[in-house]
Amino acid sequence: MRAEGGRSGKRRQRIGVMGGTFDPIHYGHLVTAEAARHEFRLEQVIFVPSGRPPHKRPEEITDAKHRYTMTVLATLTNPHFDVSRVDIDRPGVTYTIDTISDLRALYGPEAELYFITGADALLEIVSWKDAERLVSMCQFIGATRPGYSLDQLEQNLGPLYRRYRRSFHFLEVPALAISSTEIRRRVRTGSPIRYLVPETVAFYIAKNRLYLEGN
Ligand code: ATP
Ligand code: MG
Repeated sequence: MRAEGGRSGKRRQRIGVMGGTFDPIHYGHLVTAEAARHEFRLEQVIFVPSGRPPHKRPEEITDAKHRYTMTVLATLTNPHFDVSRVDIDRPGVTYTIDTISDLRALYGPEAELYFITGADALLEIVSWKDAERLVSMCQFIGATRPGYSLDQLEQNLGPLYRRYRRSFHFLEVPALAISSTEIRRRVRTGSPIRYLVPETVAFYIAKNRLYLEGN
């Protein structure tokens, strides 16, 4: 069925889902979400800060309260951006299959969900819990830097990609070598983070004395 719907003219709701640890959220995340919204004509992009990511120890990540608040502050000025607590409020480790199931229940069976992720993270998809069921439940937008080899990526995605080819989309985002790891390192070593994160997020980090130690 086409996204525009049938004769009724009613278009299916198109929702972007941007999952992440957001420890902290930065302009790489925001630019990618806005580009995806525009390119794929999404009505909304929902940022979903994770509860406990499977690959990180609980003590390695900042309290969900702070990560959630920074995500709200960063998305405040975009009327198409929203933040969901589904992953934070669900106990235990966060799996993307649960995120998508919860949002599917919220937006109904007709909504088209687009999970937005860095292309490198797409490669991990085969190791995600219930990868096949997940791929059948939503579309994927893999953000790449311009010039990134898509051939290589497609090869590495393997059989699941070939079976669900139509569920995978790619989006070139202008080179943004920003990562939360780098932001945390900069705060720890006293380097500026201005213009790498929204001003409100920089103020929040300073006020709450986040990232002064650790990784
Ligand atoms: P960390 O360095 O702690 O791993 P991160 O910067 O990768 O943090 P995450 O919260 O892990 O941020 O990422 C959330 C999502 O955003 C992932 O899908 C990731 O691939 C994507 N992402 C992260 N940084 C960028 C960026 N600079 N440009 C585009 N996408 C990004
Ligand atoms: Mg990451």
